Parts: sequence; structure tokens; C-alpha cells
Amino acid sequence: MADSLIDLRSDTVTRPTPGMREAMATAEVGDDVYGEDPTVIALEAEVAALFGHEAALFAPSGSMANQIALQLVVPPANELLCDADAHVVTYEIGAAAAYGGISSRTWPAVGADIDPDLIAAMIRPDGYFAVPTRAIAVEQTHNRGGGGVIPLATLRELRRVADDAQVALHCDGARIWHAHVADGVPLIEYGRLFDTMSVCLSKGLGAPVGSLVVGSAEKIERARLIRKRMGGGMRQVGILAAAGRYALAHHVERLAEDHAKAARLAEAIAPFGVLATTARTNIVPLDLSKSPLDAHALAAAAREAGLLISVLGPRTARLVTHMDVDDAGIDRAIEVLTQVLRA
Ligand SMILES: *Cc1c(COP(=O)(O)O)cnc(C)c1O
Repeated sequence: MADSLIDLRSDTVTRPTPGMREAMATAEVGDDVYGEDPTVIALEAEVAALFGHEAALFAPSGSMANQIALQLVVPPANELLCDADAHVVTYEIGAAAAYGGISSRTWPAVGADIDPDLIAAMIRPDGYFAVPTRAIAVEQTHNRGGGGVIPLATLRELRRVADDAQVALHCDGARIWHAHVADGVPLIEYGRLFDTMSVCLSKGLGAPVGSLVVGSAEKIERARLIRKRMGGGMRQVGILAAAGRYALAHHVERLAEDHAKAARLAEAIAPFGVLATTARTNIVPLDLSKSPLDAHALAAAAREAGLLISVLGPRTARLVTHMDVDDAGIDRAIEVLTQVLRA
């Protein structure tokens, strides 16, 4: 992507910084399929400890990390419950069904605004006439839910629901770091609520690749087999793990800057009546249902003026702030959007 374009499509577009590239270039490596890459071992131990779990496993993508976790907690022909807009049932191309034989059932899309009682009422018990529910998955922060943050109190209630029904609770924590920074909840507080988590290094944290599955030692031992089966066994991957370790050390607390940039963007375009919800984290969700421009027209006009945004649906779009767009870039994005929305 040409540097003259301001890219607010996603926080996945970030490129490794010079410091991160240096860490990658000097990483100690070994064959990780043999369990011999010291940098991967260190990253896995570090992330497990951050969330207060016994173990973690490095995976090539967030989708694979989610799918490994789901296979850990839902046997074939059993059921997963999640939001209708969840990444696991929207952007993972049917993987839970294709690889895990998992049946998914969804609650109506509510983003981070989940109702534990409603979810409790959906759980199907073991029996001979209905598919039994084995796990509930939530997303923190919620991607299609405009980067919304599920309150800690709600997650605690949901944990109680899961315990009562003896089902597992999975967190798709691709942006759990953003929730941590936005709400000030320690990562370990989130960690203790979930049986399995996936956490991503290549979104707001700015690493080029990588997510981890987090869980008990027993689960992660099984996860290693599942990863290999899915073709995710990697060799001298300490080069990428080093980028992840660098990101954890340098790029977590700075997410507050991305949240501030999103808030500034949201404030500037609020008068046009196109905000879907308030911007809690680094995502500014747009609802164009009352605008003369549909999402494609807005994206095309913005692109013409040097700004890239994501189209999510005919009348929905989003802007995502990240470390590769600075304050001057946000000023420019505000100029472009103001111009286009006014016209
Ligand atoms: C990006 C993302 C993932 C993982 O995506 P990959 O592109 O497979 O790394 C998972 N969950 C959510 C909520 C995401 O936003």
C-alpha cells in the first residue's frame, strides 16, 4: 500500500517497526515442531503467565488459534453457542464445521452487550434428542460489534452460567489487550474466567504474524496435536515469536493512543449522524442507514481522497486506528470524511 494513503481498514495492516525487526533478526531459534525453539518457548510461557494459565501455544493466525481452542472444548457433533456476528462464525469460513464437526448456534448479534440469562436459556443439556451444548464463545473486544468491551461483571455472570451448565467458556481475545487498556481490567482477571482463549499479536500489537491458544497444560498438549494436524506446525518460528515478545513489551500500553485517535475521529464525524455506537476502543463503527451515501459509495469517495476504510455491509463500514497512523494521519482522515459526508 502506497504510503500516501491513510489506511484505516484494519489494525492488521501495521508493519514491524525497526526495533521489532531488530528483535526478529537477532532471535535465537530452533525447530519448534521438536519443541526446540527457545524464543517460542519463552513467548508461550510469557503469555500463559499473563493470563494466569498453565500453558499457551503459538499459532500462525487468530483463526487457527480459535479453531484449535474450539476443537479442545467441543467434540464433533456437539454444539457451540456464540454471537451471530462472531468472528468464529463470520470470518473463519465454516472451519468449526469443516475441521471440528462442530455445530454452531448463535444468539442475535448484540456485540459486547451480551445477556448471560439469554445465553443460559439457550444451553441444551445432554440427552438423546437434541445436540448438546459444550461451549460458549465470546469476543473481547467485539470486532463487528464496533470494538465494544464486555464488562467484567457480565463476564463473571457468564462464568457462573457456564459452571452451572458444565459447559466451557472460550474467549476470542484477538483484541483482549484493547479491553484491558480501555477498562483497566488486569489480563489475569480476564484469564481466570475462561477455559480457553485465543489472543492475537498481529492486530493492534503490530507483530507481523501470530496468535496464541491459552489454557491448561493438558489442553495445550492436545492443542499441539491439533495444530500439527491442521498444518500449523512451524519450524524456526522464533523469528516471529521474537516479534510477538517485542510487541508485548512495547505495544500494549500505547493502545491508549489508538483509542484516543478513534475517539477523536468519532467525535469529528458524529454530527453527520453516521456513528453506529460510541467508539470504546480502536474501532469506529459506521451506520449509514440514514445517510445518502451507502458504504461502497463512501469507501470509494474516501479512497479517491486518499483514505482507505472497510465496508462491512451495504450500509455499514468501519474505521480502525492503529500504530501506523499518527495524529497527522487522523487529522487528514477527518478532513476527508468531513468533506465526503458533507457533499
Ligand atoms: C482478526 C481476528 C481474529 C483472527 O484473525 P486472523 O486473520 O485469522 O489472524 C479472530 N477473532 C477476531 C475477533 C478478530 O478480529
